[in-house]
Amino acid sequence: MSTLLVTHPAGLNHATPPGHPERADRLRVLDRIFEQEKFSHLVRDLAPLGEREDIIRVHPADFVDAMGEATPKEGLVRIDSDTLLSPGSWDAVLRAVGGACFAVDEVMDGKVHNAFVAMRPPGHHCETRKPMGFCLLNQVAIAARHAQAKYGLGRVAIMDFDVHHGNGTQEIFWADDSVMYCSTHEMPLYPGTGAVGETGEANTIVNAPLRSGDDGAIFKEAMETCILPRISAFSPDLILISAGFDAHVRDPLASLRLVDTDFAWVTRELMAIADKTCKGRVVSVLEGGYDLEGLASSAAAHVSALMHG
Ligand code: ZN
Repeated sequence: MSTLLVTHPAGLNHATPPGHPERADRLRVLDRIFEQEKFSHLVRDLAPLGEREDIIRVHPADFVDAMGEATPKEGLVRIDSDTLLSPGSWDAVLRAVGGACFAVDEVMDGKVHNAFVAMRPPGHHCETRKPMGFCLLNQVAIAARHAQAKYGLGRVAIMDFDVHHGNGTQEIFWADDSVMYCSTHEMPLYPGTGAVGETGEANTIVNAPLRSGDDGAIFKEAMETCILPRISAFSPDLILISAGFDAHVRDPLASLRLVDTDFAWVTRELMAIADKTCKGRVVSVLEGGYDLEGLASSAAAHVSALMHG
């Protein structure tokens, strides 16, 4: 079993103001973790720039061009109270998109078994035409469309275990029966979407909201009763993971109580479905996770599971 790790130093150049939780140090701690001996067998590649052709399958060209043009030469441009463009942001997000699509290619071509893309900013809050919640483009959605367009996949499942609901991914695939979007998230919490009754026009949206204080046992129950059977029955040709680690007990932005072994568990469960339905094809893309220690240890558990099952 081989696991690909996709990174790029451009991910460090998306600047946010002092005190902002979504910061370059998130990637620095992951870089340090993946230097450990136990990760020496990772296949490593640099993220290429995302292709315009891939991006505009999800986000309209005029929106993409406007955001590229809005990227400042110096200073910061505020899109909303917590979403910003800095001089390095556009390059960072293009590498995040390119890294996700490249990871899909390597997995689809059978060069590796599965992959983890450690780039920033995150993407799952970005809607078709609306960047928000630290997210500038929706790289998981772009990767799903890329997989369908390039490899003719009929069904792609996206599992989002970030503590926040991926309103952007849900909006993008709301009426699409070829992409299943599943989410566990704390509720109530930003952005406010993700109720059980939000099922999409094709009944391929599956939301399992959790409550403040819920721990791994309740997370597992929600996965086992609400989500894993649905993904299994959907029989996906590829599983994408919106891998946010802010449901970790240490995270400052939310109040779920997951620990490293919970992230390893859910990873193995998703791999088991992928083994049955799509030759084990799993591509995981970093979303949130704002406590540096919790992020590092839970991402390490996640990637160890991808490497060893
Ligand atoms: Zn989050």
